[in-house]
Amino acid sequence: GCRDRRPEPVRRTRMLMGTIVEVVAFGDRKPTLAAIDRALDEMARIEELMSPRRPGSDLARLAAARDFVTLSPETARLLRLSLAINRRSGGAFDPTLGALKRLWDIEGEHPAVPDEAALRRALALTGPDRLLLDGDRARVAAPGVGVDLGGIAKGYAIDRAAAVLRQAGITHASINAGGDLRLIGDRFGRPWRIGIQHPRRQGEMLAILELEDAAVVTSGDYERYFMADGKRYHHIFDPATGRPARGCQSVTVVAGDAVRADALATAAFVLGPKRGLELLRREGVEGVLVAADGRTLVTEGLKGRIQWR
Ligand code: ADP
Ligand code: MG
Ligand code: MG
Repeated sequence: GCRDRRPEPVRRTRMLMGTIVEVVAFGDRKPTLAAIDRALDEMARIEELMSPRRPGSDLARLAAARDFVTLSPETARLLRLSLAINRRSGGAFDPTLGALKRLWDIEGEHPAVPDEAALRRALALTGPDRLLLDGDRARVAAPGVGVDLGGIAKGYAIDRAAAVLRQAGITHASINAGGDLRLIGDRFGRPWRIGIQHPRRQGEMLAILELEDAAVVTSGDYERYFMADGKRYHHIFDPATGRPARGCQSVTVVAGDAVRADALATAAFVLGPKRGLELLRREGVEGVLVAADGRTLVTEGLKGRIQWR
């Protein structure tokens, strides 16, 4: 059996999508490394296609055009999925928040709390009706509307990397993009042990999950933020107010694929713990939500499987 010959894990890291991506896979060293490189190349390709800031990317062309532009079929598909999740989350997940992201500049050089007038102007450039999709063709409703897949593209890239590894015959692997991950099979005879970061104690785990064949994606307010007047301004916006969502410190979603986990983690974060938990249940995924006051909520399916720290 496979227990007789437990191969060494092969690992490689690369900086992608603004974070460190680590792939660990089991198999013979040379072909496994080659497969990992192809999986990382695939993530780099998706980053190039979907980053709004890269000249020539699908989203940069979409923002610049006055008329319909033809997108790659996969960008169009991801936009369609994003709009579907927008509807299913009551608008909480919104792929048209580019103007808000520019205004707040949370991850940029000059993050600042905007004044009311600027906020209203940016909000007027957001909303699912500001993105017109017709098959693989799309256009924005007005100049200044920004389409931003930052809440879902990393999950999609992780799924694509998993598909590349599987095609190479790899049956035990993990792809970890800054804490968002996808597991293929188990850790060669044992489960993967996945830590959920404590949102207020840096470097400490809130809980551990033992999992196989799953995606685990977290949205939190503790990595990309700035402080002003003792308040934390982070990068997940409530589309209704144009301001950072206030109900949660973090949401971790466990699902079969990372693309849905990514979008649903962002959406549940915006909805807050109670309605967020309801969304996860409705969507048939599992999750852990940490409310703004530090209370934790867990879906039924994780209750027996979570080890609290
Ligand atoms: P992370 O950046 O850690 O992957 P998320 O998956 O929650 O966290 O994505 C946050 C990013 O998604 C933001 O930087 C922004 O680009 C975009 N975003 C912010 N608010 C929303 C929202 N309500 N719906 C969809 N995308 C959002
Ligand atoms: Mg997300
Ligand atoms: Mg994310």
